[in-house]
Amino acid sequence: MWKARIFTLYPEIFPGALTKGIYGKALEKKIWNLDLVNIRDSAEDKHKTVDDTPFGGGSGMLLKADVLGKSIDKNVQQGERIFYLSPKGKKFDQKFAKELSKEKTINLICGHFEGVDDRILNTRKIEEISIGDYILSGGESAAFVVIDSILRLLPGVIGNVTSNKEESFENGLLEYPQYTKPQLWEKKSVPDVLLSGDHAKIKSWRLSQSEAITRRQRPDLWKKHIKKNKNEKH
Ligand code: SAH
Repeated sequence: MWKARIFTLYPEIFPGALTKGIYGKALEKKIWNLDLVNIRDSAEDKHKTVDDTPFGGGSGMLLKADVLGKSIDKNVQQGERIFYLSPKGKKFDQKFAKELSKEKTINLICGHFEGVDDRILNTRKIEEISIGDYILSGGESAAFVVIDSILRLLPGVIGNVTSNKEESFENGLLEYPQYTKPQLWEKKSVPDVLLSGDHAKIKSWRLSQSEAITRRQRPDLWKKHIKKNKNEKH
């Protein structure tokens, strides 16, 4: 069973949307599970304080290293990787999702306020993950993104294994456009080639669409794709 242990001030919001559809079924089948840790349970004073003001001044509050440290030490098992969701982290992508889908258990720390006391990161060997170049109010929505992208990669979660292989990013290209019934809708028909039954032709049409979309929408990915293809030919 693949497991994510989530350190949060708001455990009640999980598993939330992750119980719907295929993920709900996979949860019942015990393919994955969440272990929720309320950071506040490790606060020691009678007010259950988890945050404090930054030394040197500045706005906002920081999650305290002593509280987080205690919470981590009580819950993380030896050998497990620990991640702090943070805008300063390594950018999360499909490759990263694949890597994490192969771990048995990952630990995700959701920050709040202005972030965490920096000392916690080194002392507990925490890796930082960012889901993109923008600032969220807390790490929980980022944890949902990370877990969602991993769950669909676990064996047995998605019925059709090939559907993962055709997804955007899998081959360095974005996915081609797709259509379903009705064939004619608001006077617009679906591309003829998709009705031809000629699988080779469909495959090559899809590839050319993928290439065109990638070149148009994501020049950065397109550049990488061209470079990779050149290297493979040499
Ligand atoms: N002051 C910090 C931002 C804190 S945002 C800075 O400038 O770097 C509050 C919390 O939201 C963070 O502790 C983190 O857990 C989460 N968070 C915000 N943006 C994120 C992002 N892009 N990716 C992952 N987590 C993020």
